Amino acid sequence: MSEYASTEETSLANLLRRKIPCLANVPLCEAVRYWMSMYPGFTLHSHEITSDGVQQIGHFYLSPTSDPVCPDCGQTTSRIKDSKPRTVIEQPLPGLHRTYIHFHLRRVRCKCGCCKNERLPWLDPKQRITRRAASAVQQAVRLEGNTISKVSSMFGINRKAVKELDKRQLKKLFDKPQIGRLRRIAIDESALHKGHRYATAFMDLDTGQVFAVVKGKRKDDIRPVFEDLKQRGLLESIECVAVMNAGFAAVAKDYLPQADVIYDLFHILQNFTAMVLAPACKHMVKLKADELREEFEKRRQDGQTPTREWLNKQLRDVRRDYRKSEWLLVTPPDALKPERQQRLEKLIEDNALLAALYPVAGKLRKLWRADTVEDAMECLADIIEILKAVSESLDFKEVLSFARLLENHSDGILNACKHRVGTNRLEGANNKIKVLKRNAYGFKDFEYFALKIKGLLPGKGCSAWWELSGFKMVDNEERIVDAAYEPLPLARLSSNACQALQSA
Ligand SMILES: [Zn+2]
Repeated sequence: MSEYASTEETSLANLLRRKIPCLANVPLCEAVRYWMSMYPGFTLHSHEITSDGVQQIGHFYLSPTSDPVCPDCGQTTSRIKDSKPRTVIEQPLPGLHRTYIHFHLRRVRCKCGCCKNERLPWLDPKQRITRRAASAVQQAVRLEGNTISKVSSMFGINRKAVKELDKRQLKKLFDKPQIGRLRRIAIDESALHKGHRYATAFMDLDTGQVFAVVKGKRKDDIRPVFEDLKQRGLLESIECVAVMNAGFAAVAKDYLPQADVIYDLFHILQNFTAMVLAPACKHMVKLKADELREEFEKRRQDGQTPTREWLNKQLRDVRRDYRKSEWLLVTPPDALKPERQQRLEKLIEDNALLAALYPVAGKLRKLWRADTVEDAMECLADIIEILKAVSESLDFKEVLSFARLLENHSDGILNACKHRVGTNRLEGANNKIKVLKRNAYGFKDFEYFALKIKGLLPGKGCSAWWELSGFKMVDNEERIVDAAYEPLPLARLSSNACQALQSA
């Protein structure tokens, strides 16, 4: 071994022992061997740590110690056509912000006729990132809350590469997910892009697993999922289906004549907000604005000179007071923070329409919790009565269409009471999907978006993620592999090799 390599390795060993706690008390040579065992067939030629004053970046230059391996026949060959310099990203050594590996990738001209780049156990073909780093990226990006851009800046690789690594693992595990015995399912649509495009998700309500996501929200969009379940013999055991519109209910009835169709509380509340509360708030804003304009005119006639600015400010204040206030009216009061509770009280005090509508959400919640179907029926009749009274006494006709919706769906609503379908699962799922949309994951790539939802909601007790436990990863041929070149445990390094290194 040359003097130079030995000095290099000593300084590397010192670096490694400083950076990696478990190496602090081992001989120098073992520290180097530990690290170099990650790159079989190569040795460290030199290394360099650069710093921008804040973060340190490591560059490690490898040179080969043995002949390359042919990717086709797997034989070692000495016939090399050419070689090209390569820089790949390695998972950063502890304490370093980035770690780069520099080496020459050789192209073999093998006896078997193959003329391709050599095969390396630590680097997949055409990748700019080592297997171990790819495995770390896959691990990082599947943590909830880690967005693509966050992982991209963590590892210093571009967003497209992070997305591809993530999509690869999701596709392997969730393209055709394992589905257990289905008993209660929910079909749920959500708007993808400001209401222009939709996705529909299928969820097992007992485990919380989302097992299918399709584009669109029409009847024909969801039929293929039922066809697939039919082929897999999974339809017979289904007892009830929670849906959010009549179209879904009709398709569900086609495939599941034995099952009860249910309308779930969460979506009825959403409908209530969209059909009644939001227009009511708008209506109130309009009334207040009219009052203000009248006051403005009156003051002018009285000889005062209120300015346009004054009026505009008042109008802005009114709009601000009512912004998103519909949500205050459907949230359970004990879930509101004190300042929002105060805002709610003021709203109800200030206007009769919202005060009259306020009890409806509470009653709807009570309806889904009713102990018997009779109680539920009574509660439903009660709600419809309130709505009709509001429409007459306060001249607000929008409530009637919601009352009609409740009447038309009364079977489905009373079924919810019978099957005791809780809303937490579906609500939780909806919130996760909302976060996903906010993080601007690929709307352009619907397949990825659908996989991402399934990966986020893999279900309790049956998660496919366990297949990637430890250092496993999905490689570019969609196989689950161990991030191949995890270094040997220190104890397994031969003492001969250590002595050889020490005496060099
Ligand atoms: Zn060959």
